[in-house]
Amino acid sequence: TYIVTDNCIACKYTDCVEVCPVDCFYEGENMLVIHPDECIDCGVCEPECPADAIRPDTEPDMEKWVEFNRKYSESW
Ligand code: SF4
Repeated sequence: TYIVTDNCIACKYTDCVEVCPVDCFYEGENMLVIHPDECIDCGVCEPECPADAIRPDTEPDMEKWVEFNRKYSESW
């Protein structure tokens, strides 16, 4: 699963949303989020992000960002 982190805040690009094959991006309060259960882990969004905000959840200390992404994607 890929997850959006705080580098996304104030980013105006939505290149990631356009390439996602399963449309699992949602709008949070001031950044985009990925629904962790809908993401199919394809990885195509990651190089599209100009802010380097999209990270795999296998990186260290990602738990809080996974929960953040889940919370805001499910509020839709
Ligand atoms: Fe969408 Fe693939 Fe990125 Fe997951 S890794 S958010 S499925 S583009």
